[in-house]
Amino acid sequence: MDISYKVTSKVLFCRLNCLSFIYAPIFKNYTEMLKIEHLGIAIKELDSSIPLFEQLLNTPCYKTETVASEGVNTAFFQTGEAKIELLEATNDLSPIAKFIGKKGPGIHHIAFEVENIEAEMKRLAALGFELLNEKPKDGADNKLVCFLHPKTTNGVLIELCQEKNNHI
Ligand code: ZN
Repeated sequence: MDISYKVTSKVLFCRLNCLSFIYAPIFKNYTEMLKIEHLGIAIKELDSSIPLFEQLLNTPCYKTETVASEGVNTAFFQTGEAKIELLEATNDLSPIAKFIGKKGPGIHHIAFEVENIEAEMKRLAALGFELLNEKPKDGADNKLVCFLHPKTTNGVLIELCQEKNNHI
């Protein structure tokens, strides 16, 4: 093998590597779960729980928001990369009121941030996980969300969420 071949093949290899790096995002199959975005905690009332969690986490609540369609008032705290979402029922028919009636206050769901919510819903449905909504719906904190039925996830309510600004 002469030296020019070695050099040429090295250059070619580097070029291919660079190209795959550049084009990878275009050809990538967007089905990644990126991180735990937040933990949802069902509480009886926000008025006393917000100061409690502010003390506990040593950080102020940065947002409160009502999601009328879900019958909840929410309050958010940033803890490192992940958030804590407190959930208070706004009426007796709210899923949070039902949850607290059955199990009492406590961890209600785990939310995973995904790159492409539709692709992730399709992937999980194909694997037999039951989705609680057919299409992504509006959630709190500027998110599109979809829940998985706990009966197909060993009793854990899972939320998929994607920032609306990142949704194509
Ligand atoms: Zn949530």
